[in-house]
Amino acid sequence: MNGQMAGAVPVFLGLGSNQGDRLAHLRDAVASLMAHPRLSVTACSRIWETEHVGPDVQDPYLNACVAVATDLPPLELLDTLKGLEAAAGRQPDGHRRPRPIDLDILLYGEQVIREGRLTVPHPQWRERAFVLEPLAEIAGARPCPESNETIGQVCAKIRRKGGPWVRPYDGEALCGGQGLNDEGVLPGQDQAREQGGRGCYPGATSSSKA
Ligand code: AMP
Repeated sequence: MNGQMAGAVPVFLGLGSNQGDRLAHLRDAVASLMAHPRLSVTACSRIWETEHVGPDVQDPYLNACVAVATDLPPLELLDTLKGLEAAAGRQPDGHRRPRPIDLDILLYGEQVIREGRLTVPHPQWRERAFVLEPLAEIAGARPCPESNETIGQVCAKIRRKGGPWVRPYDGEALCGGQGLNDEGVLPGQDQAREQGGRGCYPGATSSSKA
């Protein structure tokens, strides 16, 4: 499916990893999203390294955000993401534990969703620099649901307020390029689909090819 799919909604996903080969986990997740027949990845943020937020001590995360266009309804999208987390080895009871990959729905179009297992916009996202910094890179001018502010303005507020550290990760890029090509997809997406998702991402490390 490409960027012109009928009825597609712009959705923003948060990715995080603080266990194992963090970069490979992020890349595998993006490759799997690209390979999904009902998802088009339309933009990727840079990768950020961020302090774990929580009462316990954990290793730092690598975080990023991606924009996708999809016709999957919200709960089907959530199930898809949970499936990718499980495939990456995340334990079902892994909430608040180190995790190879965490995939969150940050924004689903303009929708506000509060139903049992899904809250969108994602809970506490307005307080979290590790969400806002990468999200502002690909959606800074977008208005926040239920607010008059843009995502960039909310991000600037959090930056002024301070808090747990976040910094651009001085490694390779998450995506082959941050812009869409002439067909309205990110470079690498067609190849990802042909090869089935894992390990086919441009520049993927050998550990991600297992
Ligand atoms: P976490 O451990 O942070 O991945 O959160 C686990 C649970 O949060 C999932 O099983 C979801 O049911 C729930 N959840 C609620 N809202 C969201 C959202 N916007 N994106 C992802 N998970 C969500």
